[in-house]
Amino acid sequence: MTSSAPSHLFQNCLLFDGVHFLEGFALRTDSQGKIAEMGPDLNPNSSDLVVDLNGRWLLPGLVDCHVHFREPGLVRKEGYLTGSAGALHGGVTTVLEIQNNPPLMESAALLRKKMEDLRGVSRVDYAPYGSLTRASIGALEGMKGLVPAVKCFLGASTGSGGVKNLPEMRELFSAAQRAGHQVVAHCEDDEVMRQANKAASPETASRHDLMRPVEAETKSIQDAISVAEETGVRLHVFHISTKIGAELVRQAAQRGLPITGTTGPQYLLVEANEAARAPQNRFKVNPSIKYAEDRIALISAIEEGLLQGVGTDHAPHPLEDKARPYQKAPSGFPSIDLLLPLMISAHDRFGLSLERALAAVTLDPAEEFGLKQKGRLAVGADADLVVCDPETSKVVKESELPSKSKWSPYNGRELRAFPEQVYLRGKLVFENGKPIGKPCGRPLFL
Ligand SMILES: [Zn+2]
Repeated sequence: MTSSAPSHLFQNCLLFDGVHFLEGFALRTDSQGKIAEMGPDLNPNSSDLVVDLNGRWLLPGLVDCHVHFREPGLVRKEGYLTGSAGALHGGVTTVLEIQNNPPLMESAALLRKKMEDLRGVSRVDYAPYGSLTRASIGALEGMKGLVPAVKCFLGASTGSGGVKNLPEMRELFSAAQRAGHQVVAHCEDDEVMRQANKAASPETASRHDLMRPVEAETKSIQDAISVAEETGVRLHVFHISTKIGAELVRQAAQRGLPITGTTGPQYLLVEANEAARAPQNRFKVNPSIKYAEDRIALISAIEEGLLQGVGTDHAPHPLEDKARPYQKAPSGFPSIDLLLPLMISAHDRFGLSLERALAAVTLDPAEEFGLKQKGRLAVGADADLVVCDPETSKVVKESELPSKSKWSPYNGRELRAFPEQVYLRGKLVFENGKPIGKPCGRPLFL
């Protein structure tokens, strides 16, 4: 495929390749939108556009492995045009996206149509997950090679498609295993949550951390791991919110099972009391935000590489929906617009190393989902690049964020390392806080 990207020579960068920072490096892109050369001593060719970064960071475009863009079906809440503009603002150039409103992605035909329809709409590269439901079992074979994995909800959440019981889980995991898919799962146990709701007092009934307690995640992950072991399927647990959840995944992996997981920035940065104080249920999210010991354990799990990174779970809703009384307010909030600064905040506030904070949103998820061209600066990889000045901080102003909701639970926080420029396959697509040009994102698996 031809590309009109000019070749660039980025000089004087502090370059992060996905694992390490390399000082005084230069990087050349080619006209095909790939990384052509990297090294300390590169001289400009006559055709190069030279960009002197003056010591700024040059990073791989971020990979967000868990977003909801609500298209098709619920574009009034987001859509790819605004969602992908938000992604660029957060330094994200690749999204792995979960359709959790109708139509679920229960067939290859639906997936192909979705991916085709998003050409010229998405500003970032994209790959929707297949939906793993009873209705999609017969279609899993046909989804091979079209999706990074298949998604199932263990327990009810905002959105559709929850798995009701263990026999159903077995049936779904076996079917995914037969078709050769990895299963990605939301793990919270319905019965534990029902009991918590039954036992609620007027004081506890609007505490999301008590209505969706630690035990709900524990029980669900335990069940999912045992069914994964029985069926032999590869299992990835999304947005782990508890110390014990991370521990269960670690123990399973130590036993040699193909069990992995990710967490979300909210579980690294926020605790239940703060979430409960936020107005308009802004931090109401599933799984619920837990406690200091969980947050600290999840930071360690990312530091030590025991989890395979971080995905935002960007889940946009209009603020008037969130402002309903607690019971009626939907779960989830927008956050992709801030992913890079939020990860740097986990370093600044809680001591996560810069290298691991960045790897968690670049190389880790790219490796986990087999994206060889993404999440790394290496010769031959896609020239998806983020330029940022780590010394410049800014107060988050929610009305200025590009994704559709125009609110953020992080409004008013001072963060740093906002992307100044973003390149997608060698082409400048974002500058000065705004997307540039026509959307040119491509499907990864079509
Ligand atoms: Zn989600």
